[in-house]
Amino acid sequence: MEYEFETLAVRSGIHRSQFNEHSDAVYLTSSFVFESAAQAAARFRGEEPGNIYARFTNPTVTSFQERLAALEGAEACVATSSGMSAILACAMGLLGAGDHIISSRSIFGSTVQLFGNIMKRFGVETSFVSASDVSEWEKAVKPNTRLFFVETPSNPLMELSDISALSEIARKAGAKLAVDNCFCTPAIQRPIELGADIVIHSATKYLDGQGRVLGGAVLGSNESMEGVKNFLRTAGPTMSAFNAWVFLKGMETLKIRMDAQSRAALEIAQWLESQPGIGRVYYPWLSSHPQHALAKRQQSSGGAIVSFEVEGGREAAWKVVDSTRMISITANLGDTKSTITHPATTTHGRISPEARAAAGIGEGLLRLAVGLESVEDIRKDLSRGLS
Ligand SMILES: *Cc1c(COP(=O)(O)O)cnc(C)c1O
Repeated sequence: MEYEFETLAVRSGIHRSQFNEHSDAVYLTSSFVFESAAQAAARFRGEEPGNIYARFTNPTVTSFQERLAALEGAEACVATSSGMSAILACAMGLLGAGDHIISSRSIFGSTVQLFGNIMKRFGVETSFVSASDVSEWEKAVKPNTRLFFVETPSNPLMELSDISALSEIARKAGAKLAVDNCFCTPAIQRPIELGADIVIHSATKYLDGQGRVLGGAVLGSNESMEGVKNFLRTAGPTMSAFNAWVFLKGMETLKIRMDAQSRAALEIAQWLESQPGIGRVYYPWLSSHPQHALAKRQQSSGGAIVSFEVEGGREAAWKVVDSTRMISITANLGDTKSTITHPATTTHGRISPEARAAAGIGEGLLRLAVGLESVEDIRKDLSRGLS
């Protein structure tokens, strides 16, 4: 790597136009013109590089792809219209009928639906296993296993998956390991360096970091991105140029935001652990976290999300939520504004109470995504509902 992370976040992927603009330009155009009929033909035959149509390429989107690839240490990056379309493009680009996925059970709810219901209709079967118990992955391998899929840390219980260990099992099985790196971002965790083949992003979260636009990305080797790219230019869930420009700006401050929000989250997690009326606190950087050693190995900090149990079940948890005056009550996360969610009745509300209990998502559990406000103000806001 020629430059350090902080420099790449600000300087990589820039292609200045004839006007020599300093900040990244945004190219709002659906198509591109050719000098001649012969040039058009050469572009379509793939003999001459260059833009054709924004469903295939756009210079602002290309800048986004190059910058994120530099930050993740990936050969190639494909931008998508949302995090979910990144996961869809990954599956459609790499899998076919008769293939098998092994996925962590502790993944984003829509990803469970995509694998468990939609991909299943097209002949792709998924086995859901424990995020943290590597032996379950080994046992689930079949001759047709092509993809391992994890999200680490998981939502909302901050369970970790050992990326290096899983990558070895995947390699032996002839499968690719994909990691949804949404919670950590490359500022905290770089899955490819740890052995993963593919990295997935919901750019909607911390890459933007300010809750403005939707987008996603799939990253990996040129070879594994070939099918993903093909799916995207054919099926169309591409990233808009405007959104790519917002993400380019977001990535410039990614490291300082993640550092500051992680520092604040650790302070809040430690404070919560000392409060009466609070049960378990789930945060990878706490020494009480059962996978603290693994967290220190694969992450550079704990991230911005803290989950905790309020004693007294749903009533007590809702009281904390409803007593806040500043923290936003929303299911989203990855913002400079702190957000609070009651998973059992929102993000995980569609799961049966038995499955929820089995997953450890109790009625007293709250998920806090710590933003950039003063730690003291966040503490005060949470204290209002804690008795
Ligand atoms: C939000 C989220 C997604 C989906 O991203 P969208 O941009 O909302 O489509 C996928 N994975 C994780 C971990 C997420 O938090």
